[in-house]
Amino acid sequence: AAVPGEPWSGPAGAHRPGDEVVPSTGAAFGGDPSGDAGEIMMYYQPQIAIATGEVVGVEALLRWRHPRRGMVDPEELIRVAEQSAVMRLLTRRVVDDVVEQLAKWSAAGLGLRAALNVSVRDLHTGEIADQIADRLTRYGVVPERLQLEITEGALMADPRRVLTTITRLHRIGVGIALDDFGTGYSSLQHLRRLPLSEVKVDRSFVLGMTEDSDDAAIVRSTIGLAKALGLRVVAEGVEDEKTWRMLHAAGCDAAQGWFYARPMPAEELVAWLARYRPLRPLGGHDEPD
Ligand code: C2E
Ligand code: MG
Ligand code: MG
Ligand code: MG
Repeated sequence: AAVPGEPWSGPAGAHRPGDEVVPSTGAAFGGDPSGDAGEIMMYYQPQIAIATGEVVGVEALLRWRHPRRGMVDPEELIRVAEQSAVMRLLTRRVVDDVVEQLAKWSAAGLGLRAALNVSVRDLHTGEIADQIADRLTRYGVVPERLQLEITEGALMADPRRVLTTITRLHRIGVGIALDDFGTGYSSLQHLRRLPLSEVKVDRSFVLGMTEDSDDAAIVRSTIGLAKALGLRVVAEGVEDEKTWRMLHAAGCDAAQGWFYARPMPAEELVAWLARYRPLRPLGGHDEPD
């Protein structure tokens, strides 16, 4: 029997309740259908309030340890999964794992929020909204603890159906973040039309912002725009202190990146949180870079 929250590592073809994903994922990647399909699990990366150093939440990131290939690049995994019904199964698994994890953290006195990523097709039917509502109720997790990260590419495919799904989730209290902001199309339309609570500045801009004045300008403008619209803004890909300081000066609310912590399994996160001490808090918004 599966242990709740433990990475599922049984043989391909075996199922834990509600979990149809591993065998078909293995097949999609040419894994040995008779052997071990490897482990699918969630890693969690802390998100830190820039001004105070407080941990405000985590982003759940999918990991697949292939029996022969080792860790598979998540972007490659998603790209391949999106071409088949596997994506739907993966997303079901992600939702189950993350909501269950939220319940465990809550029971342990950790008031964490978690964001999970969803893919293009996940939003084309109401299935994901039904599943999320069901799991939140079943695990007794308040919807405000959960956030969905959607990419602009996902919105483009079928804006109306996507809008219907996320509006439903927004109404029950689940937060909606626009991920990878600046890399898609019609960004400003989305900001205006969608019930968003957060904008995430794409790491491609953040990674370059200390060296490249164009990247820095894009990051600053995005932060300004998000704030003007009353949205929380989170930067991803913060790898050094200089970037952190620049983001603070620009008024960014929160950040995630290797400077703070890499994505890690849930058990490691608990230990990391116990060790974590905020860095010296930064003062006003006018510190030199
Ligand atoms: P994303 O949602 O934009 O996630 C942020 C990515 O930035 C993650 O890559 C994270 O590990 C990486 N990152 C965080 N801090 C740093 C840093 O300081 N430096 C650098 N260079 N990278 C950093 P990851 O985990 O490889 O995931 C890649 C993408 O795969 C995600 O981008 C997301 O689009 C997709 N993805 C991951 N998990 C899921 C999932 O469960 N469902 C779906 N649909 N997509 C997922
Ligand atoms: Mg994301
Ligand atoms: Mg992103
Ligand atoms: Mg991305």
